Amino acid sequence: MVYADYHMHTTYCDGKCTAEEMILSAIAKGLTTVGLSGHGFTDFDGHYCMSRENSVKYAAEVTALKEKYKDKIRVLLGVEQDYFGGKPIIETDYVIGSVHYLHWGNDVYTPIDEHPDQLMGAVNAGFGGDIYAAAESYFQCMGDVVRVTGADIIGHFDLISKFCERGITLDFDHPRYKKAYTDAIDRLIPYGKPFEVNTGAISRGYRTSPYPAMPMMRYIASQGGKIIFTSDSHHVDNIAFRFEEWEPVYRAFGTEVVIL
Ligand SMILES: [Zn+2]
Ligand SMILES: [Zn+2]
Repeated sequence: MVYADYHMHTTYCDGKCTAEEMILSAIAKGLTTVGLSGHGFTDFDGHYCMSRENSVKYAAEVTALKEKYKDKIRVLLGVEQDYFGGKPIIETDYVIGSVHYLHWGNDVYTPIDEHPDQLMGAVNAGFGGDIYAAAESYFQCMGDVVRVTGADIIGHFDLISKFCERGITLDFDHPRYKKAYTDAIDRLIPYGKPFEVNTGAISRGYRTSPYPAMPMMRYIASQGGKIIFTSDSHHVDNIAFRFEEWEPVYRAFGTEVVIL
């Protein structure tokens, strides 16, 4: 078992609990390492990302908490940086690189993970109603996320499929979908960075299985990709969410499991 979780949010961004509450919960759950990963600053979307000011305060608080709890748990300062935000503005122990938007039209950024109607609105307005064209655009960015954000961890690789159990039809075996994600995986593998096995959408009731979906995981494994387990929790209750259930499933692929 992995006794670490590297992806979680606090009240500095869209999390519901403070950094200290998250750390205390991780200690109570018996983790030996906990990584906080606030949404990094972007200049076009302030509604869930940390502001410049909050980014600095967040880094200072997590650094202080590292020291305060050093005898109980190893605390890491991380950031989840969006592709469209470029490099993080704070120095951290590690970076999770993610793509949370479709970029279309005259510089419009539509979040893909907030509501199925919002996602389909962008697919219709920006991609002629073609979900595979939107997926191609998404995976084009995803394939470049390590270079652009400096990521140490590849965040929720197939976030575009978040609402596939909520009315969005996306055939994982569609040749265009397959080509989009295998091309992205091919571009990412040489960096040697782990892909998240992320249980966040399960804890929030959107999916019944983690990112990445099984066909992708199979391809990642076949290409020698690595994985890392994360919960993407926004509440103390969800730290290391269902790791005990999903770790054996993803470990069965025989890929290297990374520990930071
Ligand atoms: Zn994310
Ligand atoms: Zn996250």
